[in-house]
Amino acid sequence: MISLAAPVPVPRRRRRAAVAVAVVLAVVLLASGATAGLLWAARSPGAAAVPAFDGPPGADDGILVSSVSILDTGEPAIARLDPALRDAVGQASHAAAADGIVMEITSGWRSARYQQLMLDEAVTTYGSAAEASRWVASPDTSAHVSGRAVDVGPLDAQFWMMEHGARWGLCQIFANERWHYERATTPGGTCPPQRMDAAG
Ligand SMILES: [Zn+2]
Repeated sequence: MISLAAPVPVPRRRRRAAVAVAVVLAVVLLASGATAGLLWAARSPGAAAVPAFDGPPGADDGILVSSVSILDTGEPAIARLDPALRDAVGQASHAAAADGIVMEITSGWRSARYQQLMLDEAVTTYGSAAEASRWVASPDTSAHVSGRAVDVGPLDAQFWMMEHGARWGLCQIFANERWHYERATTPGGTCPPQRMDAAG
């Protein structure tokens, strides 16, 4: 005959066992979740490589408060450019000056976190990641982050570069960014066809 008290300890043990199983499952799930997160991060170099800002971005991130000359190597935005690009733009600026055009650099080298900040702001401005990607490249693809691009201004300097930039191998890359120049051909060569935008 089974006593009425007998079943009570069994469910208790089962409950304890169930709790133990739940704890083990939770630990396993958390661990696998963390692993998945790490794998995801490893597969998303843009997301993984960009540390968060611990203060306001500044000159050390390549931010220019106002446009500068290509000769202004006191600015990290200029100093950290690829030297071959800096030399080419310097020669172009010199030639432009002889034509009465003052060429200014509105953006040069940028830190990855500055580029990410620009991309985040573009997503807010344009309302979607897809539209933002037409205007702002990700930190892992931007030629500004690798020091291989400058943005020039003002408008007359941009038009001057469209006409003469290829003499120094400097080419407009994106049809929607008449200010953005990279070394994309040999000096005096022919620039490659422009891409529609940074996403294309
Ligand atoms: Zn640019």
